[in-house]
Amino acid sequence: MIKVTWEWLGMAPALDLANTVTIENGVEHDLISETENYRRWAEHEAHFMSAYPLDVFEEARPSLMKLRETLRGVLGSLSSGSKPSRALIEVLNQVSRAAPEWLELDPGSLTSRRTGKGREQDKLLALYARSGIEMIAERSGAARRCPAPSCGMFYMSSRPSQRWCSTQCGTRARVARHYSSHRSKSPS
Ligand SMILES: [Zn+2]
Repeated sequence: MIKVTWEWLGMAPALDLANTVTIENGVEHDLISETENYRRWAEHEAHFMSAYPLDVFEEARPSLMKLRETLRGVLGSLSSGSKPSRALIEVLNQVSRAAPEWLELDPGSLTSRRTGKGREQDKLLALYARSGIEMIAERSGAARRCPAPSCGMFYMSSRPSQRWCSTQCGTRARVARHYSSHRSKSPS
C-alpha cells in the first residue's frame, strides 16, 4: 500500500478528486484504490464539506471514481493546450444537472441558504462536478500539470510563468536536475 499524506487537500474539490492519482517514475498510481486510503481521503474531504458525512462518500465511491476519470480527462486536455471533448464536458454537465441547487431566503433571519434536490450522493457528486465547471469557466487557460518528479498533479497556475504546483516541487525538480547533470559529468 502506498503511504499517502493528504496535507495538500483543501484546494478546489475538483482538484482534490482529480489529484488522487500520482506519478512515480512515469507510472500512474491510484492513491485511493485501497479502501483504507479512500476512507482517509474521504475523511479529509468530509471535513471541508461538513454537509456530507462519511457514509455519503462511501455510497458515492463508484460514481466519484468515474467522475474522477472525467475530470482528469478534461484537465489533461486543458493542461496540454487542447480543448476537452464534448463528450467529457457533457458528463460534467449531466452530473451537475442530476442534483439541481438554488438559493432561498430565510424569512426570519433574512439569511440565504443553498438548497437542492436529489439524493445526498448525487448532491455530493454535483458539488465536485460544479467545482470543475466553475474552475474551467473562470480560468481554463490556467490549468497545468506539474512536471516535477513523483508529482503529476493538476493545478491552476497563479501566474503565467509558474512551472510547478508548489515550491516544494520546484525545489525537488531542481535538486533532481542538479544530481542528474552531476552524474552525467562524473566519469563512470
Ligand atoms: Zn508538483
